[in-house]
Amino acid sequence: MLEHVPLFINGRAEPAPAAVERLVLEEPASGEPYAEVPLCAADEVDRAAQAAQRAFPGWRDTPVIERARVLFRYRQMLESESEELARLISHDHGKTLPDARGEVLRGIEVVEFACGMPTLIQGATVQDVARGIDTRSIRQPLGVCAGITPFNFPVMVPMWMFPVAIAAGNTFVLKPSERVPRAAVRLAELAKEAGLPDGVLNVVHGGKAAVDALIDHPGVRAVSFVGSEPVARHVYRRAGEQGKRVQALSGAKNHLVVMPDCTWDKTIEGIMGAGYGSAGERCMAVSVVVAVGDAGDVLIGKLRDAAGKLKVGRGTDPGAEMGPLITRQHKERVLGHIARGVDEKATLALDGRAHPLTARPGNFVGPTLFDGVQPQMSIYQAEIFGPVLSVVRAATLEEAIALVNGNPYGNGTALFTNSGAAARKFENEVQVGMVGLNVPVPVPLAFFSFSGWKNSFFGDLHVHGRDGVQFYTETKTVTARWFGDGESAGARNMTIALR
Ligand code: NAD
Repeated sequence: MLEHVPLFINGRAEPAPAAVERLVLEEPASGEPYAEVPLCAADEVDRAAQAAQRAFPGWRDTPVIERARVLFRYRQMLESESEELARLISHDHGKTLPDARGEVLRGIEVVEFACGMPTLIQGATVQDVARGIDTRSIRQPLGVCAGITPFNFPVMVPMWMFPVAIAAGNTFVLKPSERVPRAAVRLAELAKEAGLPDGVLNVVHGGKAAVDALIDHPGVRAVSFVGSEPVARHVYRRAGEQGKRVQALSGAKNHLVVMPDCTWDKTIEGIMGAGYGSAGERCMAVSVVVAVGDAGDVLIGKLRDAAGKLKVGRGTDPGAEMGPLITRQHKERVLGHIARGVDEKATLALDGRAHPLTARPGNFVGPTLFDGVQPQMSIYQAEIFGPVLSVVRAATLEEAIALVNGNPYGNGTALFTNSGAAARKFENEVQVGMVGLNVPVPVPLAFFSFSGWKNSFFGDLHVHGRDGVQFYTETKTVTARWFGDGESAGARNMTIALR
């Protein structure tokens, strides 16, 4: 019996009307169907957006400290439910349980950040911009905001958006990935249990039709998107043409640069987690390792040994370090990339196709390692989003930086070295949004803003941190003067009060 994933509109989980098309979801580890999700079109999106529009005036006028209190309670509920959420993520996405636990924690951190909204939303004042005239700027919420999220972080990425939007006084319609929709519904149910008024947070499901209807809805003022580059470009263009505020976080091809003076055990450990963790399905996953100078030969041997020992399995298997890919279609796509890498004459140092689990039911592909990869090869250019690492050689740090900067994406990068001078040069010159120095995945932290550069991001304001607060609020600047004599006005008011 398949579970029917509900919509969440106006404070209630409800089934989609029978006429709405449905997608059957299969568990990534086994290929077994477990649920079906409605693929909404304009009608359901309109109902959700209207519920959010109706809820907005009351929520906007709720004092920010009361809004923050709801989030404090939400934070507690999320923590109590964190293990269930992690298990849900691990089942629906396939990532390992420790990875899923980390994801939930990162999401909770955004709620903690948003609890500070009474401070974060403060404006600015200048007294006496002219004699007797004061000017202040205040930040006000926009109205209904929309979030469109990818499959690879079913909890964390939605929570990059709605806790900040809601704490700032907006209402929200979330359209999670249709491939992992259950976690979003649970997040909305918990928010209601925490005291969030009906209609403030709504969830609809679907693909392109739902996304386009949400962007086009006249009640939606701002759109936050995270996903692949072609869709990010589409969302950015479509929302921008309608004069809406938009931030679109996009695809990636992250390089990790290894200097010959690195601390080898930490470097290899870091690359294993960053390259193969979550089966490479992270926007911050390392996809290209750049070996500088004579680091290459040592590196490839150590990487082959370590990757060959990684424990692949169902996400809940004790000790599993890497789970399956999200769908059968994505597995076929990743296998196609490996075949093209071989055709293009990259050296296949470890063939994930030969891993015993690759041939079994479920979407497993074993860790794969290519050496001698050249920038013109398709495995270098494509965002594979799978457990496939490419090693490229560079003669100098200068050359490695030029390679990173020449890539159209600029999401994350890292340098492993013991040279402060090399690290300083790298940090200064590299054209990438998130940089790790001896840290393989510079993870998003709620109180900083997060995003890539170049084709990894379309927009101006990044997610969460101070940028997130700015994104979900609009500045109003008020200039005021008051006539008469403050003394006598005060006396008049006092007389009225005493009557
Ligand atoms: P995706 O682009 O296929 O889907 C993202 C969202 O867009 C989903 O909600 C989906 O329903 C919707 N969508 C899909 N096709 C659409 C279309 N034609 N028109 C309108 N909407 C459409 O992405 P995905 O496969 O779910 O996620 C993986 C991608 O997300 C990778 O490229 C990864 O790098 C990226 N990502 C980026 C970041 C970041 O911070 N930059 C974070 C996580 C994931």
